[in-house]
This record gives sequence, C-alpha cells and structure tokens, in this order.
Amino acid sequence: MEAQVNQTRQKVKEQFRLFLTNKGLKATLQRSLILDAFLDLDRSTHIDELYLILRGKHPNIGHATVYRALRLFTTAGIAREINLGDGLTRYELAGGRRHDYLVCSDCGTVTEFENSSIERHQAEVARSMGFTVQSLKIELRGVCNRCMAQPE
Ligand SMILES: [Zn+2]
Repeated sequence: MEAQVNQTRQKVKEQFRLFLTNKGLKATLQRSLILDAFLDLDRSTHIDELYLILRGKHPNIGHATVYRALRLFTTAGIAREINLGDGLTRYELAGGRRHDYLVCSDCGTVTEFENSSIERHQAEVARSMGFTVQSLKIELRGVCNRCMAQPE
C-alpha cells in the first residue's frame, strides 16, 4: 500500500516536471515545495489553508505564489478544482481517490468521506442506463453535529 502511494507521488511529480518543461517554465524550488505540501495533505485543500501550512516551514513563500502554483497544478492536470458554493475554491489531487462531501449549511464546515458502496452503486446505475460518467460530485447539505448541539 505504502509503495503504491509513493509511486503515485512520483508519477505526479514527473507529470508536473514534464508539464513545466513543455511550457518552458522553470521547476523552481518553491513550486516543488508547494507540490510536496499539497501531496502530503492527501485531501482537498484551499489556498489559505495550504499557504498557512507552508508559511510555518517556509516563511519566504508568498500567498500569490501558492495561488499561482495551485492554478498551475490545475492546468497541468494534477489538481482539480472543487466548488462547494461557500465561496472557497478547493483543490484536490486529480488522479487521487474520489471524495464525497458533507457540507454544513450553518457553519460551512466541509467534511470529506469515502464510501466504496456508494461508488459501486453509482457505477451500476450508470452502466444499466448505458451512460458513461465523466465527472461527478456528491455533496450532502445539512447541519453538522456541533451546530445541531448549539442552543438557538
Ligand atoms: Zn455546522
């Protein structure tokens, strides 16, 4: 399992390196550090969160640099954008595991989950209707435990 993760990581880095070469862009240390931080997280993130994580270790990396790097990852096909309607653009690994989301309408907390039986059922439904799925997003909206427990 661990080996598989490392292989994916290497593949993503190689893909990004090729993309930069093809575009005539430099593989800067900062871009590489940002990509590492993004891969380390192994879940969706947004610019402010990733910036805070990076700033702790690399104070010379600016917010705009992180933003531009995430845009580059998206263009390179490494990351994909997710919009859950809360005004934040999130990014997740394009080739990674798919996540579904629970979104609290009160506090805006987004919780990711994976459920292989949901995924299997979706694939079955699509197949039985002769449909080829290209993309999908599951977003359950409601109220989280914490908000539910709060007195009005
Ligand atoms: Zn909540």
